[in-house]
Amino acid sequence: MAISNKAVVKCSKCGESIDFEVFRSVNAHTDPELAAKVKSRELFKCKCPKCGNESYVNYDFLYNDPDKRIMIYMIFEENKLKDICKLLSSKEIPGYTMRVVGSQQSLVEKIMMFESGLDDRSVEIGKSVMYYNNYKLFKEAGVSQIRFNHREDGSNEFLMIAGSKLFARVGFPKKEYDKISSLYGDRYLALAKDDIAIDLAWGKEMYDSVVKNGRE
Ligand SMILES: [Zn+2]
Repeated sequence: MAISNKAVVKCSKCGESIDFEVFRSVNAHTDPELAAKVKSRELFKCKCPKCGNESYVNYDFLYNDPDKRIMIYMIFEENKLKDICKLLSSKEIPGYTMRVVGSQQSLVEKIMMFESGLDDRSVEIGKSVMYYNNYKLFKEAGVSQIRFNHREDGSNEFLMIAGSKLFARVGFPKKEYDKISSLYGDRYLALAKDDIAIDLAWGKEMYDSVVKNGRE
């Protein structure tokens, strides 16, 4: 069951007070319509009735999909993140994958990875390999975000976003994904239980550790 409460949000443009429904958590099995709204980010969208301004409201949120056996916490305060990681790892629900993300875009992206049947760790490593191998080019182009995308034809890609514009799409073939999974699989097993903030930086750390060890 979805847990929600009423809140009042101030319009960032005109200052109007807007009634807004805040969902603390959504269960994708019992509330598929709400889950769809999470994936389109509509659940977090707030439209001002006075001036029409649209904005996304950030608040701590839990996405739970018991069918896919995933729980993804969206948390905005950096200092809360560590505590949550500790807390979640101590809970340990057998067979569940727990993750923590710090933005709505990351939440949507994570859900997409899991729904595509992929291991998000291999995807994040693939993302970081691709990014850091083209670091200079992307940096000069002002690429500030890289998003995983599962296309309708079943293939996967990374979207390189500079500001609000799409700078490039780079394919992420299944072969590449499988290669990473077999190369890093053993390392996944050795990960600490509170290692659940799996993102680009995490992917880079994993990649660096393998590269370093390979050289020695
Ligand atoms: Zn307004």
